[in-house]
Amino acid sequence: MKNITKQSIYQTGTINSLLQAVYDGDASIEKLSQHGNFGLGALDAIDGELIVCDGKFFRADARGQLNQLTPETCSPFAVITKFNPEHSFEISASSFTELEQKLLPHLVSANLIYAIKIEGLFNHIELRSEECTCRPYRKLVEILPDLQRTFSFENIAGTLVGVWFPSYLAQINVPGFHFHFMDSQQKVGGHVFGLKMEHGKVEIQTLHGFELDLIQSDEFYQANLDMNNGAAVAQVEQVRT
Ligand SMILES: [Zn+2]
Repeated sequence: MKNITKQSIYQTGTINSLLQAVYDGDASIEKLSQHGNFGLGALDAIDGELIVCDGKFFRADARGQLNQLTPETCSPFAVITKFNPEHSFEISASSFTELEQKLLPHLVSANLIYAIKIEGLFNHIELRSEECTCRPYRKLVEILPDLQRTFSFENIAGTLVGVWFPSYLAQINVPGFHFHFMDSQQKVGGHVFGLKMEHGKVEIQTLHGFELDLIQSDEFYQANLDMNNGAAVAQVEQVRT
């Protein structure tokens, strides 16, 4: 196992800086593209969801419509890697929870990071995106109920773009699975919170390296980033009803 080339993932911002209203980043799409072709995240001013697949960068807007991003658009929180899976298998799942349960045994250790791509046919998928927010910025848990828009699709082919982060990095990124979706026509997408998948092909990349890029701004410098965020993460990653 020694001397193998370690695969790594690049991140800008932290989940806690996003929760603490640091909504303007300094990493442009042009910069992110130098670090990989596969990933997900947020966009400046919480203006939609970021989905990166096969080297294309999309915004899923508040109506779930995908638009390709310009190179100068920035992200306050994103992860990206050069997708190079070492492991592939077929899957089906009656729910998001079942998908997580079926994927977990394929992760070789709970101490590593993973990039996960699933191309499949979805009987049903529930997605979320957001309207943008304006200054003065308020904390994400306070504004998300008003900003978020949910939408669902039936019998749609597409790709789940996902990552899995270990719980010991919970102040840095969302622990566990995090998936964004884009359909095969590259027309619609968003953050995934529910699904039923008829069948899919899973590809997993194990990541032993993590490069964290912090944001050069007074808002980032002054944010309280050392906080117990469990409740807030659960609140913003799932949809509040
Ligand atoms: Zn998301």
